[in-house]
Amino acid sequence: MAALHDKFGRAITDLRISITDRCNYKCVYCRTGNEGALFGDLPFADYLRMARVLVGMGIRKIRLTGGEPLLRKGVVEFVRELSKLLPVIHGAPDALVRGGQIGARADEGVRPYTSNHPLDIALTTNGHMLADLAQPLKDAGLARVTVSMDAVDPDRFARITRVPTGYDNVLAGIRAARRVGLGPVKVNCVLLRGFNEDQIIPFGMFAREEGVIVRFIEFMPLEEGRTWSPATVVTMDEVLARMAEYRPLEEIPHAASETARRYRFEDGIGEIGIIAPVSHPFCGHCSRIRITSDGKIRTCLFSVWDHDLHGEMRRGASDEELAEFIRSVVEKKEERHHIGEPDFVHASRTMVHIGG
Ligand code: SAM
Repeated sequence: MAALHDKFGRAITDLRISITDRCNYKCVYCRTGNEGALFGDLPFADYLRMARVLVGMGIRKIRLTGGEPLLRKGVVEFVRELSKLLPVIHGAPDALVRGGQIGARADEGVRPYTSNHPLDIALTTNGHMLADLAQPLKDAGLARVTVSMDAVDPDRFARITRVPTGYDNVLAGIRAARRVGLGPVKVNCVLLRGFNEDQIIPFGMFAREEGVIVRFIEFMPLEEGRTWSPATVVTMDEVLARMAEYRPLEEIPHAASETARRYRFEDGIGEIGIIAPVSHPFCGHCSRIRITSDGKIRTCLFSVWDHDLHGEMRRGASDEELAEFIRSVVEKKEERHHIGEPDFVHASRTMVHIGG
């Protein structure tokens, strides 16, 4: 199998799998509050087969997400199975080719080889159930977690998540993740004007005190409640200006494919990141595709359609046929999103049903 590239030449190396679209939180910027899943989920064996085929096509990182992925019983065992997959590296010099190779296309001139580095497996969670699961997940082969947390003040946290008792659980989850070595632990904070922009400096302090990387995310129009407008977005420039009132920052060089701009405090203690898809889009370096909980491929968060990979499986497609289907889908990957532009069209699913 040849490496996966889209028609704009972007290598696709990063896969997100949503393993449920249920969530136990009802964050104001995400869900309107309905209880259940709209699309349901699949047996883990089906996600595993999809992952295996995609890893054979050059996927090196898999992030599990949802909904809330820790609601799925069997998630630890799934991580253990994923961790047995070894990335297949494409385009390596022949000198690096070693056992376990799979066939290369004659026109490539180089042979893919099986890496002896493990697959990079990460998880995004609201952290509510993480305290007890951190060690088993680590033992199963999880490398890192990102925990979503939108306020360091418990009352504000409850107002945003609409879960009165969650704050202590999430803090315990973050600390457990650090303790067991699921790091560097990243904490994602979506900033929403009128709700939590006053939490910027407290989060700077939190990053320093807790030894986590806090990443501020610009709010995107992917919510169920259709509350987004440009005015609701707290931009990267605003975050940097506010944080500089607390302490000077210096930028850390970041890889082009990294979504976050990275900064450290000038005394070397504490790191923050900013993910700015609205004010500073990074689509030109996008290396991601997503599989939804019901087995559809999405080539962009803002796609207006998805592609039924699980349908192909149900029809009895072989692994090679699945790979061909995936390749044809990736061909159609969108060049960029159109947030804030007059021709913007809402995505066909909201974030909780895609998997962020
Ligand atoms: N339940 C898990 C969690 O809370 O991290 C995983 C799923 S959640 C959809 C993934 C991430 O998407 C979270 O960090 C969440 O804050 C973020 N998110 C949800 N809606 C968003 C939006 N409209 N704009 C930006 N980020 C959003």
